[in-house]
Amino acid sequence: MTTTVIAGKYVLGMREGRQALLQDHYVYVDGTRIEAVTRDAPAAGQAVIRYEQGLVMPGFVNLHAHCLRGGLFRGIPDDLEMDPWVPKLVYHILLPLTGIAAKELTPGELHAVTALGMIDLLRGGTTTLVDMWHHGQEMFFDVAKEVGLRTVGAPFIMSASNSRLGEDGNPVWDYGNDGLAQLAKSVALFKARDEGHAGLAQVAIGPHATDTCLPELLRECRRAADDLGCLLTTHFAQTPQELALLRSRYGMSASEYARDTGLLGRNVILAHAGCSTDEDLKVLADTGTHVANCAFGFAREGQNFPYARFARAGVSTGIGTDSHGMDLIGELRVTGLLSKQFFHQAHTGTAHELMRAAT
Ligand SMILES: [Zn+2]
Repeated sequence: MTTTVIAGKYVLGMREGRQALLQDHYVYVDGTRIEAVTRDAPAAGQAVIRYEQGLVMPGFVNLHAHCLRGGLFRGIPDDLEMDPWVPKLVYHILLPLTGIAAKELTPGELHAVTALGMIDLLRGGTTTLVDMWHHGQEMFFDVAKEVGLRTVGAPFIMSASNSRLGEDGNPVWDYGNDGLAQLAKSVALFKARDEGHAGLAQVAIGPHATDTCLPELLRECRRAADDLGCLLTTHFAQTPQELALLRSRYGMSASEYARDTGLLGRNVILAHAGCSTDEDLKVLADTGTHVANCAFGFAREGQNFPYARFARAGVSTGIGTDSHGMDLIGELRVTGLLSKQFFHQAHTGTAHELMRAAT
C-alpha cells in the first residue's frame, strides 16, 4: 500500500485522548488507516497533498438526513403557520411531497436532486452519511459512488406505505399493511448492495417511526437487523402526540415501547428522541443506543431539542441535518447556540464537544 501524506496549517488530532489543534503537522495515511500524525516531514520525493492555510480534520458523519428532500424542499417547511407539535409537517407535507417526487420526477431528475444534496454535504466536510429514503430510490447508492460519499442507506419501512393523519390528528395506516413486504425488499437490498464496514455503501433496516409501524413489524425489523448484522435506524419521540399515542395504545412510555419492540442497543440510531423524558434518556444511555440530534430543523418549527441535554445524560449523541439544508457546519453552529440558550451557559455545547460528536 502506498502512503499518502496530507499537510495543512493545522491538523485537528488527538493528544492524550483529547482533541487538539496541532500546528505544522503531517498526516500519514496507509490505505484506509491513519499511520501517524506527526511533525516529522516526509522523505524527499514523497508526494504531499498540501493545504498551506488549511485545516486537516476527520470527515463529518451526518447521522440522519434525507438528501433527496434537502434539495427539493429547500425553504418549503419554513415559516409555516402550524399549531405547535401537531405532526402535520411530516404527515401533511414532507411524506406526501416525497411520495409525489418519487412518482413525478424522472430517474434523471431524482438522480440530480440527490446528487445536489450529497455535493452540498461533501463540500461542507461530510464524508459519511446515514440517509433514509423510499424504496424505489436505490439509485441513492449509485449517486453516492459518483460523488465519492460513504453512505448508509435505510429505505423506509412502514406498516402501510401510505400513512396519513386521521381525524384525531394521529397517523393511521388503515389501508395497505405491506410492512413485511417492504422489510423483505430491504433485506434483499442488503444482500445485493451492502459492502460491509470497509466499503462505501452499507444498507440499514429503517422502520419509519414508532407511530407508523405496528409493534410486530418493529420486532421483525429488529430480528432482520440482528440476522444481517447491520444498523437499525428510525425516528423516535418526535412529538408529545407520539408519546401519548404509545401510552394510549400500548400503555408504555417511549423507552418502554423501544425496549418491547427492539429499538434499543448499540446497533440502533434513533433520530431526534427530543421528547424523551429524563427516564427515557437514562435507558438510552444504559443500553448504548445512539441518538441523531438534528436541532436546526426543529428550531425552525419553534422547538428546542438541545444536543447537550442528551450528552449530559450520557447518551451517545451524533449530529444530523434531517430534511432541511445539507449544511453540517451551519447545523453545528445552531446546535451549539441552542444548547447554550437552553442551559444559559456559554460552556455548554462547545465547539470541541460538537466537533467530536460530528466526527
Ligand atoms: Zn428524518
